[in-house]
Amino acid sequence: MDLTSTSLQQEVESKQYPKFNHHGAVNGVTGSCHQYWLSPAYSLLIDCGLFQGDEFAGHSTASSPKICFAWQQITAVLLTHVNIDHAGRLPYLIAAGYQGPIYCSEASALLLPLVLADALKVGVTRNEKLLSAFIKRLKRQLIAVSYNQWITLPNCHFTSVQFRLQVAGHILGSAFVEIRHKCQDDWFYVVFSGDLGASHTPLLPAPKSPERADILILESTYGDSNHQGRKQRARALQQLILHSLRDNGTILIPAFSIGRTQELLYELEDIIFRLRGEHIHQHLRWDELDIIVDSPLAASFNHAYLQLKQYWDAEALERHQEGRHPLDFSQLTTIADHQQHLAVVNYLARSEKPAIVIAASGMCAGGRIVNYLKAMLENPVHQILFVGYQARGTPGAEIIARAPNHGFVELDGRHYQVNAEVLKISGYSAHADQQDLLNFVDGIPKKPEEIRIVHGETSAKTALQRILTAKGHHPVIAGAD
Ligand SMILES: [Zn+2]
Repeated sequence: MDLTSTSLQQEVESKQYPKFNHHGAVNGVTGSCHQYWLSPAYSLLIDCGLFQGDEFAGHSTASSPKICFAWQQITAVLLTHVNIDHAGRLPYLIAAGYQGPIYCSEASALLLPLVLADALKVGVTRNEKLLSAFIKRLKRQLIAVSYNQWITLPNCHFTSVQFRLQVAGHILGSAFVEIRHKCQDDWFYVVFSGDLGASHTPLLPAPKSPERADILILESTYGDSNHQGRKQRARALQQLILHSLRDNGTILIPAFSIGRTQELLYELEDIIFRLRGEHIHQHLRWDELDIIVDSPLAASFNHAYLQLKQYWDAEALERHQEGRHPLDFSQLTTIADHQQHLAVVNYLARSEKPAIVIAASGMCAGGRIVNYLKAMLENPVHQILFVGYQARGTPGAEIIARAPNHGFVELDGRHYQVNAEVLKISGYSAHADQQDLLNFVDGIPKKPEEIRIVHGETSAKTALQRILTAKGHHPVIAGAD
């Protein structure tokens, strides 16, 4: 095949290129991985995420996700953020032989080695030598780039190609990716939304729309719903704590270490700050309430969030300037060590001392929360507070389903009766809701020629497609390769 600029131009014009292969996040929300082809020999990979939960089956054997796509033609990997469902297949891509650059934001470059080492430790190996060899190799391929700066990639034959990361406001370091290549005398823009943040996500600024997107690849996690307002949600959290701690006991909050934990801490600090001096009950003041974050990864992440204040939003910085410490307040204890973790579980289970514990995993499928549940689920003095989506088949979903009749759930092969009170708050999501997604699209000055909807359940994708079509857009629901 003649790959001169003229032939590339002809192919681009004949609509064969650019083209997309979606290797994940098409029939659900996990496994994000999109290959963007500019020619038969030149492609960019946007994210390389792991499938999770029910979506894992069919894409992987138990311990080895498959890299069954043309990785040899990848010129560069562009990473939107470090969540495992966007970055977790990177070790397998590297193991397959990919030696090219992996571009990400500066914050993501700091966080990614922590996240991948943690994931490999849990799922693959605890061998420190192997882990550190992998991290060393990863760091050789990682290239940190600033937000809002065009970076030139190797030419696609004779055509210039550039990309730029913009703040996505989803988790620290998250970005949406703009890619442009020269097309005759103009640029052609393709934008990958990655995961967009909600407009009221604590700590992080909301994303701004791209200035141009000829093709937009848009996530749709909450394409069919709008979140509860932030104020209502904070009030609900305050009420639940008051209600729960009347008779002491512990409130267990299963939460993912990245993003959700920091959001919760930010709001808890605010409640405690506003109500300091006031009583939860006769023997307990708000500023005496112990908040425990029990997760080594969350501990590292809190540390990173504190180091990277330049990426906080204006409200968080203002609080910091007033001498407040949203992620590091005096009632907060962070536990990284495993022995200490076991000691705290025992202590709280025996003493019934009022406390709030935040531990991963968010859906109770593994992680330290499981030890707390095993020790406390059967005691009605405690509460389990769910703040996030519980996927079908996870222990979290089982606990919610069994709670009304005090049924049994299985944890580590043993049955536990659900006697603790089970509570839920909606609205804690680091994801844009339907309105946020529409605002993102509406803010693009010229309507995209095409919007490819990814990263959502069917109902969310079709709802978003319907509403975008009604607004005069041309959305298609992306299919798997
Ligand atoms: Zn995602």
